[in-house]
Amino acid sequence: MPCPVIESVEVFRKVLDAERGAGRRVGLVPTMGALHDGHLSLVRRAAAECDTVAVTVFVNPLQFGPGEDLERYPRDLDGDVVLASAAGATHLFAPSVAEMYADEVLTTVRVARLGEGLEEAARPGHLGGVATVVAKLFAMTGPCRAYFGEKDYQQLLVVRRMAADLSYPVEVVACPTVREADGLALSSRNAYLSPDERRAAAVLYRCLVAGRAAVEAEEEDPAVVRSAMAEIVASEPGARLDYAEVRAAGTLEPLDRVVGDVRLLVAARVGPARLIDNLGARGPSGPGGT
Ligand code: AMP
Repeated sequence: MPCPVIESVEVFRKVLDAERGAGRRVGLVPTMGALHDGHLSLVRRAAAECDTVAVTVFVNPLQFGPGEDLERYPRDLDGDVVLASAAGATHLFAPSVAEMYADEVLTTVRVARLGEGLEEAARPGHLGGVATVVAKLFAMTGPCRAYFGEKDYQQLLVVRRMAADLSYPVEVVACPTVREADGLALSSRNAYLSPDERRAAAVLYRCLVAGRAAVEAEEEDPAVVRSAMAEIVASEPGARLDYAEVRAAGTLEPLDRVVGDVRLLVAARVGPARLIDNLGARGPSGPGGT
């Protein structure tokens, strides 16, 4: 049975208040829709840990820059309801842009440091747009566990920090990246790829694996790790590198030496799509480390 679709903020709030009032634990899975198995892994995890699972589908204009793919971003609400319900969603919240935002948005949320560089450098305003819409969704949902994918690693850290800094009664839960057999991370934007581009897109994962191999071989110079990653992307004529980075896993700060827990991050253009991915790795422990 497809779950009910709610379009009004007021109704969404009331429904979730009532669920909590009846003693049920609420899980929240924010998405932009066009649901795939990556999204559904979040829904399944939420359903395993919570009694009520609200999936939100909202293509947030605030996180798209001028000239980006806001208009052509894939949309399939009917399909999303079926898939989300089958994965355990009990409610689907799909507000219109007018329902979410006043004509003029005067208040936005920006997370310093974590929300700068990497994706924000490539897409100015993007992470502020994400932090703002997620802050609104948290305010509308109330106390809950909220499930986010490691696929968007910088976004995950930004959202977690925003929730802590603004005292939301929300526990942010990180979920592992779901991949295709060749390593390509599932993404709604993979739908933009032709068969040849789809094959080329697997280079992002190979680039991350090369970076992880360098880190695990105790290469401590971040520039060497970065070039090992960049070289792999350069070997694929169908891909154009945006950035290949190795950063501190918890803060995403640049490193002088590759030690401890790090995150390898890559962004590249493949045909009409801009794709991102990341992977964790552990270098030798730093001075004073274990
Ligand atoms: P999006 O609809 O792209 O905004 O993504 C909604 C949520 O699903 C975010 O928390 C993403 O990190 C997560 N997500 C997207 N793709 C994947 C994937 N391949 N594996 C796990 N989570 C994902």
